[in-house]
Amino acid sequence: MKAVCWMGTEKMSVETVPDPRILNPRDAIVRITSTCICGSDLHLYDGYIPTMEQGDIMGHEFMGEVMEVGSGVDQGKLKVGDRVVVPFTIACGNCFFCQHQLWSLCDNTNPNAWIAEKMMGYSPSGLFGYTHMMGGYAGGQAQYARVPCADVGPLKIPGGLPDEKVVFLSDIFPTGYMAAENCNIQQGDTVAIWGCGPVAQFAIRSAFMLGAEQVIAIDRVPERLQMARDGGAQTINFEEDSVVDVLKDVTGNRGPDSCMDAVGMEASGHSLFFATDRAKQALRIKMDRAEVLRQCIRACRKGGTVSIPGVYAGFVDNIPFGAAMNKGLTFKMGQTHMMRYMRPLLERVERGEIDPSFVISHRVPIDRAPEMYRVFRDKLDRCTKVVLDPWADGASGA
Ligand code: NAD
Ligand code: ZN
Repeated sequence: MKAVCWMGTEKMSVETVPDPRILNPRDAIVRITSTCICGSDLHLYDGYIPTMEQGDIMGHEFMGEVMEVGSGVDQGKLKVGDRVVVPFTIACGNCFFCQHQLWSLCDNTNPNAWIAEKMMGYSPSGLFGYTHMMGGYAGGQAQYARVPCADVGPLKIPGGLPDEKVVFLSDIFPTGYMAAENCNIQQGDTVAIWGCGPVAQFAIRSAFMLGAEQVIAIDRVPERLQMARDGGAQTINFEEDSVVDVLKDVTGNRGPDSCMDAVGMEASGHSLFFATDRAKQALRIKMDRAEVLRQCIRACRKGGTVSIPGVYAGFVDNIPFGAAMNKGLTFKMGQTHMMRYMRPLLERVERGEIDPSFVISHRVPIDRAPEMYRVFRDKLDRCTKVVLDPWADGASGA
């Protein structure tokens, strides 16, 4: 089959690799019909998260048709022929964490838990296509994928809904929604969201669903700022204005009730701390550029909440923790607990409350994935989200 393989920093390649097979009784094989490039994949593309190996198959946002199920899969839950969206987190369904709906913290799905334990104390769940530290699972930017614990994660999709409307249930719609839920929004609140990437776009719309009165979104890319305004947000261009000052002004000197970092470890910026981050990251001494997290802590009102869907990988420094402590801030973060949100959000799509396809700028054959990584990272060609078609003829255009 064809698959997008990580061959080194900034080197993606579409390779012909062996088709996946059932390895465990609870596995399923899915024939993928749509698969996306995520902001999280850019951290791997840019080489900032360790334990990738040459030839690893990328991708964690995919959907398709079940071709085969193992003998241990509960056929009442999943059977051959079902059309499914597959969540990016892999969860066993039985452990303490799964029982508590903390799906991205499953105790049983990372066979390389020892690597994560060395760095983090305990290991989160396994993830598709996201380093050996997170399980070394082959990802879904391919024609087929092996889906472990297949009777827990995949969500059946009724016919009639096109892939474009449901594929983002695999990650960024639930991620934006959980990030908004983590803001602890009360009626009438002001929420500030850093980043207007795909995750932030869903966070903006989710914040309104959860009762925010005002959402202020921050970025510098014109078409992304426009998309945020289309979703009802006011916007700040961080190249033109001092973000923390503007937020203070527009909230009557009090500050936003919650601040969301939907940017993560590859933030841009202008401060001295940012320059230090960048130098250390270039030398691979540090993994993260935490400019946005710093701004969130500074801008947030006293007693407010900082929600962090943006991915961080390592040991972040120069965090104003004294400010966080003395202002009594609450922090909420994490990889998304996907299975809490997929079905209720599918129901919103079915009811026509939201059409997630608004975020797509490019739908291209998988053969063009290597070039699209660069286009998405560098925000070329007004790129906001790339959906790859694993079966289309590579010669055809966007
Ligand atoms: P993206 O890279 O497309 O978007 C990031 C945006 O942040 C860009 O538009 C960029 O211009 C903007 N930005 C950079 N510096 C900024 C600054 N100083 N202030 C304001 N905006 C700034 O990525 P995405 O797909 O939207 O993902 C966003 C983050 O969410 C990534 O870190 C990704 O890894 C993470 N993510 C987390 C989860 C989860 O489960 N927690 C799931 C998916 C993605
Ligand atoms: Zn993703």
